[in-house]
Amino acid sequence: MKKRILTPLLLLLLVACSRPPQSETVELYVFGTLVTITVWDAEPAAREAAVTEINQTFQRMHHEWHAWKPGPLVEINLAIARGEQAIALPPSIASLISRSQQLYRQSEGLFNPAIGGLLGLWGFQGDGRPNGPPPDREAIARWVSAAPGMDDLSINDGLLRCANPKVQLDFGAFAKGVAVDHAIDILRAHGIDNAIVNGGGDLRAIGSKGGAPWRVGIRHPQGEGVLAALEIKGDESVFTSGNYERYREHEGVRYAHILDPRSGLPVEGITSVTVLHENGGIADAAATALVVAGVEDWHRIARQMGIHYVMLVDEAGTVYMNPAMQQRIEFAAEAPATIVISTPLKP
Ligand code: ADP
Ligand code: MG
Repeated sequence: MKKRILTPLLLLLLVACSRPPQSETVELYVFGTLVTITVWDAEPAAREAAVTEINQTFQRMHHEWHAWKPGPLVEINLAIARGEQAIALPPSIASLISRSQQLYRQSEGLFNPAIGGLLGLWGFQGDGRPNGPPPDREAIARWVSAAPGMDDLSINDGLLRCANPKVQLDFGAFAKGVAVDHAIDILRAHGIDNAIVNGGGDLRAIGSKGGAPWRVGIRHPQGEGVLAALEIKGDESVFTSGNYERYREHEGVRYAHILDPRSGLPVEGITSVTVLHENGGIADAAATALVVAGVEDWHRIARQMGIHYVMLVDEAGTVYMNPAMQQRIEFAAEAPATIVISTPLKP
């Protein structure tokens, strides 16, 4: 009797041991995006446990960090607008705020998650695509002169103070990167060291594919397809920000969902920016900041943010890169007509 129970168990063990290494992909739908988790040669039980935990973590972040669906961040924004001081914060939001403050300073305020009020004016806080004429110029001008920024906030003993009631937090440019980092931490805690977590084309990869580098694509700024590919071995994130997915359209004019906090207006002329960095949160914030920085200022802002690989594509299709990025990028079938290589980013 005992033997009968043991035999299938033993068989299962044998099968597990002789299983050839392979990659498995699991799909989750969170943050309104398809997230795929690819692991190389992982124990099925570890993989399942990790994916379950990632799913729960993502659902919790989605609830806590959402800028317009009822939840903790919406409550915090209402309290700021009422001029309340000493606002209680969940630890995950306190951490998002302090990390954002540093990235805000390094980017000279171009990455500014205090921009929620302006995003609301432009109709970018909602589930559908906004349309209709752009918002009233005076309302935009009022927002710009109030100049809400991350430096208006301070946290003491877990309590938030805000010097500017026009601050409204929206972590849309940062949250996905932070979430991908959490997912990687969870995979590692389950002993999985070779994996890719990909949220709608933005990803972080760790380890390798049985010793071979992971090969990943960079989204084409216009349309479907892949603009370029690159290899990752080790630990690295690839984040692309652009104006091709979310925008407001009125009478044939497209207004980008990335806004310049200095003018209150959508960014123009830049199609996409791709950033590589070990940390997904930093890569995500930097990609957004560099779209705002544009052709003139991307190099300086990238240096200040500690970014070593950048590719920027402007509306004319011209590609700007630093030399280290150029060495790693392999363009798909059609290489861009004009590529401008900057001076190195590393000192
Ligand atoms: P995507 O991956 O969707 O292109 P991004 O990481 O570039 O996203 O973030 C874009 C989102 O960030 C916008 O939808 C908006 O919520 C927010 N955002 C727009 N402009 C800024 C800005 N200057 N600083 C911080 N967040 C911004
Ligand atoms: Mg971003």
